[in-house]
Amino acid sequence: MTDPTAAVYVGRFAPSPTGPLHFGSLVSALASYLDARSHGGVWLVRMEDLDPPRNSRKAADQILQALSDFGLTWDGEVLYQSRRLDSYASSLHTLAEENLLYACSCSRKKSGKIYPGFCRDKPQAKPLDADGAEKGTPHAMRVRVPDREITFTDLIQGDQRQHLSKQVGDFILKRKDGLFAYQLAVVVDDAYQQITHVVRGSDLLDSTPRQIYLHELLHSTPIRYAHHPVIANAQGNKLSKQTFATALDSRAPQRTLTAALEALNLNPPEPFLRSTSVDSILQWAIANWRLGAVPSRKTIPAKSIRYLPSE
Ligand code: GLU
Repeated sequence: MTDPTAAVYVGRFAPSPTGPLHFGSLVSALASYLDARSHGGVWLVRMEDLDPPRNSRKAADQILQALSDFGLTWDGEVLYQSRRLDSYASSLHTLAEENLLYACSCSRKKSGKIYPGFCRDKPQAKPLDADGAEKGTPHAMRVRVPDREITFTDLIQGDQRQHLSKQVGDFILKRKDGLFAYQLAVVVDDAYQQITHVVRGSDLLDSTPRQIYLHELLHSTPIRYAHHPVIANAQGNKLSKQTFATALDSRAPQRTLTAALEALNLNPPEPFLRSTSVDSILQWAIANWRLGAVPSRKTIPAKSIRYLPSE
């Protein structure tokens, strides 16, 4: 990994390799890339491949190839979360030692959307092993949340607040099936990679207070967050692999890059033509990038993007 210790800005793109890169994820990659590069910062790529049945090495390789085709060159080595399990176990262990975790065997149905803490005060018969593993009946590990609001100022969406116990409840850091939860891994890795700025889609805005809280518990340096609008399909749903967003066509990246810039409110005077190199488009975009000009909306309809190549 590039040593980011000297950098004042370290950004990252952290895709889950469940399928090839699509237009929505290109917008995310581009936003974090442009913000990092316009600050003279480091830009890292991390594969969030913690869910073996859903992730594939092929998808990870396709994503990296697409990033290269679109000129989004990252610094250092790609970090794969599947190789970081010991670190997640060790952070979990630290939290367990501080009595911040408890085992929970409630079903998803019983837990509801806001977990009311059924297992919070149960005697903990099966504490974590030294390696973070638990034995016996399958159970999730939840972290206790405080009875207070977490507040932060998002660099795009403005002031945010969330009351963790009233709006989220104690949340899962290790799932019943033994997998480490996204919320834990993302925090451990953002700290490990010394990320200073997270620029990502607005669908993760709601997760941010949980992540800020975990950073507090693990004593890591606070991060600045910026959540850009996500691209929505005709049904108003975020473009994603689940909504069958089509894979990007890397053969003529100029038009797709123009469309992605347009989604971020960075409108080149003319759509870039096939003859313009991807690198010169990105140089133009870095020079003209303004995070403050990104709309503070949660979604942008794909159909409002003029240069989006038709699917
Ligand atoms: N892996 C997550 C996703 O693909 C993004 C995580 C993040 O940026 O914090 O939605």
